[in-house]
Parts: sequence; C-alpha cells; structure tokens
Amino acid sequence: MSALWDLPDYDDHEIVHFIRDHASGLSAIVALHSTYLGPAAGGTRFWYYADKTDGLKDVLRLSRGMSYKNAMADLPLGGGKAVILADEDRAKSPEFLAAFGDAVEGLGGRYVTAEDVGISVADMQAVAERTSYVSGLPAEGDNAGGDPGPFTAFGIFLGIQAAVKHKLGRDSMDGVHVAIQGTGSVGGRLARLLAEDGARLTLADIARDAAENLAGELGAETVASDEIMRVDCDVFSPNALGGILDDRSIAALNAPIVAGGANNQLARSEHGRVLAQRGILYAPDYVINAGGIISVALEYFATSEGREADVAEVRERIGKIPGRLLSIWEEADETGRTSAEIADARAQALIGRG
Ligand code: NAD
Repeated sequence: MSALWDLPDYDDHEIVHFIRDHASGLSAIVALHSTYLGPAAGGTRFWYYADKTDGLKDVLRLSRGMSYKNAMADLPLGGGKAVILADEDRAKSPEFLAAFGDAVEGLGGRYVTAEDVGISVADMQAVAERTSYVSGLPAEGDNAGGDPGPFTAFGIFLGIQAAVKHKLGRDSMDGVHVAIQGTGSVGGRLARLLAEDGARLTLADIARDAAENLAGELGAETVASDEIMRVDCDVFSPNALGGILDDRSIAALNAPIVAGGANNQLARSEHGRVLAQRGILYAPDYVINAGGIISVALEYFATSEGREADVAEVRERIGKIPGRLLSIWEEADETGRTSAEIADARAQALIGRG
C-alpha cells in the first residue's frame, strides 16, 4: 500500500483519524476533508471491505464530496465522513457503537456524524448516547430532521423540473419520461413526486419486487436493472450506486438529461466531459442531492440551540437547488466548460481552495 498522501483520493484532507478499539473490535476511519466553513459533517458508513484500502479510499472520496456538497448548499459546514470497517459477518455490538460514539466525541465537535449506508436509526441513537455530535435522528410530528431521504428526493424532483425546462424547453412534467435506477428511500419517493406531477416512469431496482409493486401503484413500467441505463427516455435518474457513468454506459444512454441522487455518479471526473460531448445535460450529483443534508444540518443547528427545526425553512432552502443548477448550466453554455467542472470549481472556491 502506498502512503496516505500518495493515494489519488487524498486531497489535502485536514485530518484522517484511524480508530482501533480492541475491547469492542471497532475499526473505523474518520476523514475530515475541510473544516473551512464549519464543523465537518457527513454520515457514517458501515461496510465490509475485503481490502481495507478500499475503505480508506471511500472515506477520502466521500468526505471530499461532503465538503463540496455542504459548500454548494450554502451551509456553514465543512465536509467529513466516517467508515466503520465491518467484519465479514457484519456484526455490530452495543460496545462497538459506544466506542465509535466516544471516538466522535473525542474529535471535540470538529466532526458531526449521521446515518449512511449500513447504519440504522437505532445504531445512530446508540452512538448519540456517547456524543452530542450526531444529527439526522428521528423527527417528531412535522419537524424537520429524521430520515433525509424524502428531503433529498424533493430537491432532485425540483432539479429534474429545472433540467427539463432548460434542456427540453418544457414547463410541465406532463408526459416527460423519466427512467429511475433504484427505488429505495430516495428513488421511491422521487418516483411518487414525479408521478403526481404527470411524468411517465420506467423503474428498475435489483429488488425487482419492490420496483414492481411501486410501478403497479403508480402506473409505471419496470425493466431489469441492467437495462435501465439504455431506456429511451427524457431523463435518466440514477438513485442507486455511484460510479455508474463511464465510457461504456454513457455511450449507451438514450436520454438528453442525467439528474439523480446517487453520490459520485461519474466513474472519473472526465466523464463529465464525455456526457457533455454527447450533448447530455448533467446535474452535478452533490448539487442536486443536497436536500437531505440541508434537513440534517438545520435540525442539528436547531437542536444545538434548544429549539426545533422548521420544515418550512428546510423546504425554502431546498427550493434554491434548481436556481443553483441553472446558474451552473448557463455558465457551461457560455464557457464550454462542463457542469461538473463548474460545480467543482465553485465548491473549491467556497472552501478556500480555489
Ligand atoms: P437505499 O438503500 O434506500 O436505496 C437504494 C436502492 O437501489 C435499493 O432499493 C437497492 O436495491 C437499489 N439498487 C442497488 N443497486 C442497484 C442496481 N445496480 N440497479 C438498480 N437498483 C439498485 O438508498 P437511498 O437512501 O435511496 O440512496 C440512494 C442513493 O442516493 C445512494 O447513492 C446514496 O448515497 C445517495 N444519497 C442518498 C441520500 C439520502 O438522503 N438518503 C442523500 C444524498 C445521496
């Protein structure tokens, strides 16, 4: 293995914290990419990596993504991420979650965590027993906070409307055909919002039954998950995995717009240019999918001030996502740079690395 700073994903991260608690068996990495705008915020992923270096690469890449996302969402937060290196049996114990909570507390507020892949609400509640630097816990009633998925989906829905207007000149989603990859927390909610707005939907999920049940309810079609990226449609919306836009998949796309919630959609940064060369409008992922972090952040700030977060303010801030995307696309049209390059440059400037 090469030295940390030789890894391609190391991007002048401020802190990379390795945690090993022998008593509970916890192994974790917390990476704080930037605290320039405020405490580094980003979720905790619990994942089995056959090669632990992949866990290190993930935490480096994801924490940088959070710096960019938080900066572009106009939040006073830096970017961080934690990866807990699960054993092959993926077992978690209360002692292990407590040890992780102690490690977050030990960072003294420089890192604020939340749920991510593999971490449940109950797990995060256990972590929160040991540290106050946790957000995204279940909300009561109409308050903001809790599961960020619906807020993420709402921002993507608004972003897709803006993309359809900008690229296709259409003011309404009536009959606009959207192909959705992944019908989980984000993709499922997005499908409902789009269906209510008159869009025609094609859905795919590796959990085929879930996609078919949702399609039945919404009057949508389904295709196999390996076909969704080739569907002839107006918008391809990735809401499952990252790294899906590569040379081969982009060549096969049959959609003038790519706009969805999955993190790190571009296999490599140059794939933003490959999309642009095919005339495909791309909504930079960390700009369009910021609805969840906006909710989580506002909940965190409100709770630290002893009040409840205001859902109207969350929605108002999410309502700024389409304008942000439009301004990126307009600059791309004027300069010939890609939307991905423009978003990265703006984010870097916002975190003092322009
Ligand atoms: P989720 O686990 O609830 O849903 C993901 C869905 O994708 C699952 O139903 C899964 O079966 C399906 N899937 C996995 N591989 C697939 C494939 N190859 N083809 C089709 N479907 C596949 O996760 P989520 O919370 O909905 O998040 C979806 C994406 O959005 C992830 O990339 C996540 O990092 C990103 N994201 C989520 C949020 C949020 O608020 N939840 C915020 C920002 C970004």
